[in-house]
Amino acid sequence: MIQFKTIKEALKYKDKCPLCSYNLEMSHLYGDMDYDNNRLHIFNYSNIIIIDILNDSIKVIPNEDMSTPFMGLHVTRLMMSCHSCKNYECYLLLKINLQDFCWEEISFNSETIIVGSDRIKNIFSINETQYHKNIYGTMTGLPLIPFDFSNPQNTIDKIKLLIPYI
Ligand SMILES: [Zn+2]
Repeated sequence: MIQFKTIKEALKYKDKCPLCSYNLEMSHLYGDMDYDNNRLHIFNYSNIIIIDILNDSIKVIPNEDMSTPFMGLHVTRLMMSCHSCKNYECYLLLKINLQDFCWEEISFNSETIIVGSDRIKNIFSINETQYHKNIYGTMTGLPLIPFDFSNPQNTIDKIKLLIPYI
């Protein structure tokens, strides 16, 4: 699994959609994250974690209502996706040490492509390819098959050779 030393390095690793070259954007910021002015804010039960992307600093603001702020490891995933072709997304895994205000791990966890009505997700932490016939249909797990971004249909054809019944 590809690991990074800084969040800046991680965000640069895949900053463009490998299918259409459009800039990837942070997505899925749900209610527990927001991004503004090169700062990523992560809200957890007892802290606000502020990550400055440019100088890779981690600041933690404890919630004053909590008598014992959480000081362990905060684990979250940051999703990057293509808003142009909408056929690519990837996740960075972030493990933040709240005791020492440093990174425990930043890694490239998974990436997903959509080809026609099929969805394929490669999860590097478990070396698995997950194939979904019909975007949200049942999943078939396979050993990791690298994506052919120049011709995504080649990846589907390879999967279909491995599981001829789908
Ligand atoms: Zn794209």
